[in-house]
Amino acid sequence: MLPIADLGADELDALRNRVLRDYEAFRAKGLKIDMTRGKPSPEQLDLANGMLVLPGNGDHYSEAGEDARNYGGLQGLAETRALFSPMMGASADRIVVGDNSSLAMMHDCLLWAMVKGVPGEMEPWSQQSGSPAFICPVPGYDRHFAICEEYGIRMLPVPLTGHGPDMDMVEELVADPDVKGMWCVPKYSNPSGETYSTETIERLAAMRTGAPDFRLFWDNAYAVHHLTTERHEIANIIELCAQAGHPDRAFVFASTSKITLAGAGLALFASSAANVKWYLARAGKRTIGPDKLNQLRHVRFLKSMEGLARHMDAHRALIAPKFDSVIEALETRLGGTGVARWTKPDGGYFICVDAMHGTARDVVELAREAGVVLTPAGATSPYGRDPNDSTLRLAPTFPSQEEVRLASEGIALCILLAAVDKLIA
Ligand code: PLP
Repeated sequence: MLPIADLGADELDALRNRVLRDYEAFRAKGLKIDMTRGKPSPEQLDLANGMLVLPGNGDHYSEAGEDARNYGGLQGLAETRALFSPMMGASADRIVVGDNSSLAMMHDCLLWAMVKGVPGEMEPWSQQSGSPAFICPVPGYDRHFAICEEYGIRMLPVPLTGHGPDMDMVEELVADPDVKGMWCVPKYSNPSGETYSTETIERLAAMRTGAPDFRLFWDNAYAVHHLTTERHEIANIIELCAQAGHPDRAFVFASTSKITLAGAGLALFASSAANVKWYLARAGKRTIGPDKLNQLRHVRFLKSMEGLARHMDAHRALIAPKFDSVIEALETRLGGTGVARWTKPDGGYFICVDAMHGTARDVVELAREAGVVLTPAGATSPYGRDPNDSTLRLAPTFPSQEEVRLASEGIALCILLAAVDKLIA
């Protein structure tokens, strides 16, 4: 197919007629497919069905002899922390196991920083003279942005480059003492799928910040979520921060939401000794202890990092073909047209499409009219404002393989139709 920008007026009209006919035929199928959120499919959840009978009647003691049915154990069982230590890049004593949501841990850390302050001599963020701000790599995770919005934290968008955020911009912004934090999804990022390079991570660890109480919110949600046989690793942010003389800079988060059960996984926090102590002091005011039976259940089920990796291979076998379907439809319908670019991620839960500028909202609306619900346009930018109106986030894991194939055809048509309409208008 020729780039549509090179087509004459008659050719463009003819193309529009063809695409419109195909779109109408697609709409007539009366589909109802939800591609909005990165949720595991029922088949993925079934992989962890074995957990539902664990730890089993009578098996409720930790290695140290704690009764997992009872209160207490704020930091989490030692064996659970040891299991996830390689994934978190921290020793077991520097890990806290929470309940089922790492987003809740991020929320708490941010709120506690606002009202109590982080370790050190500084006032709480909300009581300092300036107005606290966070650096937000874009496109990013809408729920991170929602937390900032909820607490009135200004968001400073910085573009992602394919190997992490634009570090020249980050280093410039972070010199401002009002900049207190930064969201980072360093591996298979949501939604761009990119993985931060070692150079990017070294610069984040070493950069000079205007705020002595600056924190990286290092959300490694997709640490083990590979879509190829290559298991990409990233540099260890906690160690690099310590080496650079900023031992307390990184708050590291992850969870088993997309490893075992999204509604009943384990959330994890890792950081320096001072930050872990700070976290536990705050957490101890809001809970008497986490669900330790779920911690035992995870240890019994996953057993080791090797067990965990095998389990993730089974996820990959289920979801990689869905990603392939999306990419195939985009290539078949849009290849050579010049109307869009898209990612081919090696991991994570999303494909990110950069559609023709000024068309993302139209694409989402066209898809909705044809029965395919997409993440709202703009959701991947702070305040829901995508200045180019071009970014689309596709989440292919939840629908069935056949639904993904059908929906992708339709989405590609919508992208093309919106672009042709834009050129003709
Ligand atoms: N962080 C990122 C980057 C995500 O994409 C998601 C879910 O999609 C989460 C966090 C949610 O994590 P949890 O289920 O542990 O709260």
